[in-house]
Amino acid sequence: MAHPTDDRDFRLPPSPRPVRYQAALSLDMERRTFTGRESIDLDLAGPSDEIVLHAADLEVTSAALYTGRGELAAREVVRAATSETVRIAFDEPIPSGRAILTLEWTGRMSAGLRGLYRAGDVAVTQFEAADARRVFPCFDEPGFKAAWTLTVDAPAGLALLSNAATASAAQSDGRQRVTFRETPPLPTYLVALACGRLVASDVISVRGVPVRTWSIPEKTHLCAFGQEVAVEVLPRLEDYFGLPYAFGKLDQVGIPEFEAGAMENAGLVTFRETALLLDPGLASLPVKKRVAEVVTHELAHMWFGNWVTMRWWDDLWLNEAFATWMSFKIVDGWKPDWRVWLDFDAGKAAALHLDALRSTHPIRAEVKNPDDMTESFDLITYEKGGAVLRMIEGYLGEEPFREGIRLYMSRHGRGNAVADDLWSALGEASRQPVVEVANAWIAQPGHPIVDVRRDGRRVRLAQKRFLSEPQPPPGGEATRAAPPGPGEIWPVPLVLRWEDDAGIREQRHLLRAAEGEVDLAASGGIAWLCANAGSTGFYRVAYDGAGLASLALHLGRLAPSERIGLISDEWALVRAAMREVGAFLDLVAAFGPEQDHAVLEELVVRLGGIEARLLDPGIRSRFQAFVARLLGPVLREMGWEAAEGEADSSRLRRAAALRGVGVVAREPGAVAEGRERLGRFLRGERSALEPNLHEVAVTMAARSGDGQLFDELRARFKVEPDPAFQRRYLVGLAFFEDPAQAARAREMALSGEVPLQDTAFFMGALLSNRTARDDFWRTLRERWAEVQERVGGAPMLLRRVVEAVGQLPERRHLEEARKFFAEHPLPAAKQAIAQTLERMRQDIELWERAERGVEAWLPRS
Ligand SMILES: [Zn+2]
Repeated sequence: MAHPTDDRDFRLPPSPRPVRYQAALSLDMERRTFTGRESIDLDLAGPSDEIVLHAADLEVTSAALYTGRGELAAREVVRAATSETVRIAFDEPIPSGRAILTLEWTGRMSAGLRGLYRAGDVAVTQFEAADARRVFPCFDEPGFKAAWTLTVDAPAGLALLSNAATASAAQSDGRQRVTFRETPPLPTYLVALACGRLVASDVISVRGVPVRTWSIPEKTHLCAFGQEVAVEVLPRLEDYFGLPYAFGKLDQVGIPEFEAGAMENAGLVTFRETALLLDPGLASLPVKKRVAEVVTHELAHMWFGNWVTMRWWDDLWLNEAFATWMSFKIVDGWKPDWRVWLDFDAGKAAALHLDALRSTHPIRAEVKNPDDMTESFDLITYEKGGAVLRMIEGYLGEEPFREGIRLYMSRHGRGNAVADDLWSALGEASRQPVVEVANAWIAQPGHPIVDVRRDGRRVRLAQKRFLSEPQPPPGGEATRAAPPGPGEIWPVPLVLRWEDDAGIREQRHLLRAAEGEVDLAASGGIAWLCANAGSTGFYRVAYDGAGLASLALHLGRLAPSERIGLISDEWALVRAAMREVGAFLDLVAAFGPEQDHAVLEELVVRLGGIEARLLDPGIRSRFQAFVARLLGPVLREMGWEAAEGEADSSRLRRAAALRGVGVVAREPGAVAEGRERLGRFLRGERSALEPNLHEVAVTMAARSGDGQLFDELRARFKVEPDPAFQRRYLVGLAFFEDPAQAARAREMALSGEVPLQDTAFFMGALLSNRTARDDFWRTLRERWAEVQERVGGAPMLLRRVVEAVGQLPERRHLEEARKFFAEHPLPAAKQAIAQTLERMRQDIELWERAERGVEAWLPRS
């Protein structure tokens, strides 16, 4: 039966408010069920005759209310499936003031990766954004923060963890009963529980906070690095915020099946194993950096999100943008030689790419229901949001920005806040017009392209919204005829960097209008000008011919981040038909044997992107020959073996060159050597592959591999304890181009053999595989009901599957995808479908124009 509030967009009324939950759960691990009871202290602003709270797939078996006047019996308890609520009606009105609601219920562990679910032998919760209601009847919105005291009854012998430390524990009849201490006020999405065969590292006390890192027993040797990161970064975060860690203890747990990367439950952070566990002797540097980044990101949330919480999900970006930016800032302070801001730039580049679609959304987006919440966890919220915060920090200065953050924390600690609370704190601390700059970037979809023309010391600037498809240039005739409308202009904090007779210098300028001019305080002639110094701005730059030529002549004078930004911007201009692909390849060729590994990686990624789209085999092989000529000398210079004590930068430069030569150019000598070395590695000769080369070797070997190698990788995947290696072997199976092996991988994709958490990666790899993609695309559509059945309980992963379809390169694929998604709408992936179809159309149109351009540019062999 439905009640009047049974609507997907339903929001709870502001009263009653929960103040304290005391809840007990009893778990049946075998039957995957649980029973629960709780008492919730409520605060009622006015009298009422009903209470509405969230509950999904729970059977409420008893409900009663105690007020100052005694017990009120519930007249009826009505479930509403669409709004995921229960309404408890009473015969007499409930007076305002305090009341205690008691409930009992039963429920089941969920089949997907949300609510309370089984990941192998571990039962674990994942509540963000709106799944606490699958375990507890509760006020499941972030504005309702309350203290939680949890008691759990489970089989003896299993580890039992929650947000707070254990207060008391008892055992009888093969069962254990643990009561945890009361937490500080938490929103429901941060409540957590883990129960299973888990083992902890040694506890380390960090300024009095006990820190432990947990895994399943087979992986305890992989915990030390994640533990080290937490121990290193926790004090740095306390120092930045000027505020001690609030949650008493910290447990980090690697979970065998996990939907997202990690979850910042207060005091109990849960991780996908690849984001926490690694073998320090074998891990590549990117794998270590990723673990450091994720651990730090989750710990930053202990302040931003957990201590001060967004009022509603439309400010999810406040949590995620901040944690994203903060993580890089803290890791950079810990390990400056890792140059993690260049990795941040890679995320920013992906966000710029998405944000150049018409179907992008503003950072602060309207959120009405759980589907919208699921869709909010994307590149715009995290990476664009983080980049905009970085730009604002650059504009305000590091110290005033930090003072503003501290003010915000002290004002809203234990409570909730909205974006304007942050801007006003930053504005007070910095005495700068933060609101104007920030709100434009947060509220408007998209980002600008800034057209830069220099004449002597005078720089003429023009801006308009950048879209990655053919459009009139900013400042051109068409723009003058129709100037940018509202929402098409941003306050752009530009940092200009140039070289003159006095050296390299910088000047700041806030471009507020569609057009502007700056006179550079230069001395003597200007050799070159970069209009996004350090690539810290979230905008594209279009130089005129002379400006671009002077940069190409002085590439070595630019910072690596600026060289990467230049490549990225110039490629965006090709997409927008503002540059010819040949001009882009001229620029690439000008980089030659690039010394910086991060810049080289960027070049390889771009070249790989081009190679993947060339449909004509003749043009493709000529392009591959060009890549081999460009990068072969770097690989020959570096060789396959690392010298004793060789710097990470050299190791990564070797890996980038090998990816270019072996994966993009498919040079037969490199492929053969990769295969041979992987064979030795798999036979136990660990030194056969320098750790940073392992992934590339698996890719090269799999593409050219036979049934025997397929069997070997498949067997390895099942026994390998290190999660990064395990995933490489698994995804490697989807790279086989031998038709018989591709057919085996296709069958695996829809079987239970691929862990649910890896299904989207696996399918994405099959859709990128030239020989496998058409058959798999057909299978995917024919067996879509099975895909939905399997992946539906992890909607974030379902969205990844949709996005992976966007790699299909031909016009007929686009038509098929349009038809298919029109016939199979997905409420939790509406935005992903629109973005995927728009990007697919743009890519196909681009390559219909550009393939001949590549052909014309390539030398005849
Ligand atoms: Zn986060």
